[in-house]
Amino acid sequence: MDCIFCKIVKGEIPSKKVYEDEHVVAFHDINPIAPVHILTIPKKHISSLMAIEPEDKELIGHIHLGLQNVAKEMGVAESGFRVITNIGTHGQQTVFHIHYHLIGGRQLEWKA
Ligand code: C5P
Repeated sequence: MDCIFCKIVKGEIPSKKVYEDEHVVAFHDINPIAPVHILTIPKKHISSLMAIEPEDKELIGHIHLGLQNVAKEMGVAESGFRVITNIGTHGQQTVFHIHYHLIGGRQLEWKA
């Protein structure tokens, strides 16, 4: 499968990893929009939130626990941060392997 994030999971493309466990990898976004901008992805290929299956329920919970670890690792757990997953065309999803942007390190504004 020609998925750039699957290649990052396998180490075929380099990434600056900040967290990894059995099910999840987190790494610096190559085009950060804030001082902290980390992508957290499941090692399993799931194309977007809309492709999550009932069998993935535990994995999705695991990702959230991974996000806690990423926030602590990046020093934003106390100050706060935002987690976003973009879906489809209007959501401006560009990589079709589900990923959670963790953004912080500055005061964020809410702009849709
Ligand atoms: O949510 P969306 O699909 O638009 O986000 C994809 C993100 O993946 C972008 O922020 C982009 O900078 C990042 N990216 C990356 N490393 C790559 C390819 C894309 O960090 N090799």
